[in-house]
Amino acid sequence: MKKFDYMEEFKHEQLIYFYDKTTGLKGITCIHDTSLGPALGGTRLWEYEDEEEAVLDVLRLSKGMTYKAACAGLNLGGGKTVLIGDSKKVKSEGYFRGLGRYVQSLNGRYITAEDVNTSTTDMMYVAMETDYVVGLPGKSGNPSPVTAWGAFMGIRASLKEVFGSESFQGKSFAVQGAGQTGYYLIKFLLGDYSDVNNWKKYNEKPKKIYFTEINEAHIERLKKEYPEVEFVKPEDIYGLDVDVFVPCALGGVINDTTISKLKAKIVAGTANNVLKEAKHGELLKEKGILYGPDYIMNAGGLINVAHELQGYNFETAMSDVDKIYGRLLEIYAIAKAENISVSSAGDKFAEKRIEIMRNVRANFIKR
Ligand code: NAD
Repeated sequence: MKKFDYMEEFKHEQLIYFYDKTTGLKGITCIHDTSLGPALGGTRLWEYEDEEEAVLDVLRLSKGMTYKAACAGLNLGGGKTVLIGDSKKVKSEGYFRGLGRYVQSLNGRYITAEDVNTSTTDMMYVAMETDYVVGLPGKSGNPSPVTAWGAFMGIRASLKEVFGSESFQGKSFAVQGAGQTGYYLIKFLLGDYSDVNNWKKYNEKPKKIYFTEINEAHIERLKKEYPEVEFVKPEDIYGLDVDVFVPCALGGVINDTTISKLKAKIVAGTANNVLKEAKHGELLKEKGILYGPDYIMNAGGLINVAHELQGYNFETAMSDVDKIYGRLLEIYAIAKAENISVSSAGDKFAEKRIEIMRNVRANFIKR
C-alpha cells in the first residue's frame, strides 16, 4: 500500500506506529484532521490479517471521526488508534499503560477512548500514563444509551422530513440488532426513558416494532421484557412492511441484495457504515427512501464523551445530543436544494464547517 498516496488523497495529517517490547503492544495511531481541534477517536483492538489491513482501517476510521465530530458541532478533529492482537491474550496493565505513554507522547494532538475490544477499565490504565483519554468510569458513563438517544432524535427528524410530523405515534419499525444500542432504542420507542434519566418523555405509541437478533440472550431479554415487540428471522427483517428500518447491528447492510427488498420509507439507526458503498446512498434516493447518515445519527456517544473535556454535566451533554434533530433537518434541506444524496449532503455539511472554522481562525490575535 502506498501510504503517502492515500494520505495525500484523503488529506490525512499523521500516521504513527508504536511498539513496546515488554508487552508486545503493537499499534498505529492516525490523526486525520485537526482543523477544528485535537483529534478524538477510540482505540480498537483487533486481530488483523496483516499490517496493511490495520493501516487501511485506521486511515478510514480516523477520517470518519473527522466528519462525525464536525457534523456533531464539536471542536474536535478526527483520529483513531488500532492495536494489532488477540484481545483474549494481549490485555494487561502494562499493555494499556504502554498505550497511554504513546498517547501522551502526542502531547494532546490526539485523545483516545474505548472502542471495539477495549473497555472503560482498560482506559483506566491508559489514564495512569496520559491526560488525553476520555470515557472513564464515573464520568460520562455508558455511551450506548446516549448513542441510542441521539439516533432516536434522528429518527424523529427523519419522520418529520418524510411524514411532516416527528411523532412516532402509529408508525412501525424494524430494528436490526438488539444489543447495546438497539435495545435502548426500542425502549425509547416504547416510552421507557429511564436509561437517560427520563431526560424527555413522549406520550406517543408506535403501531408495531419488529426486531431481529442472532444472540439468544438478547432475543430472550426482549421477549421477556417486551413481549409486544415481535421477533423475526435475520433474513426477514429487510422486507417488512414498516415505516422505518433501523440498523443497529452491522455495517454494509444496505447493499445490492437488500435494497430491492426494502419497503420502509426511512433507513435510520445506530450502526456504522450502513451503506455497503457510496452508490447505495444514491440508490436509496432513487427509490425514494430517506437515509439518516450514520455518522450523524450515531454521534450521541461521541458528543457525550467529548463533554468530559469540559467537565461532564449530563444536562448540557444531552442538550447537545438533542441537536442531532435540527442538524439532520439541515442536511436533508441541503440534499433537497442541491439534488444530492443525504450522505453527500452530510459530507458537504462537515467540510463546510471545517473550512469556515479554519478560515475564521486564520488571523493573528495576541492572547
Ligand atoms: P452490540 O454488539 O452491543 O449490538 C449489536 C447486536 O447486533 C448484537 O446483539 C448482535 O448479536 C446483533 N447482530 C449481529 N449480527 C446480526 C445480524 N446479522 N442480524 C441481527 N442481529 C445481529 O453493538 P452496539 O454497541 O449496539 O453497536 C451497534 C452498531 O452501532 C455498530 O455498528 C456500532 O459501531 C454502532 N455504534 C455504537 C455506538 C455505541 O455507543 N455503542 C456508538 C456509535 C456507533
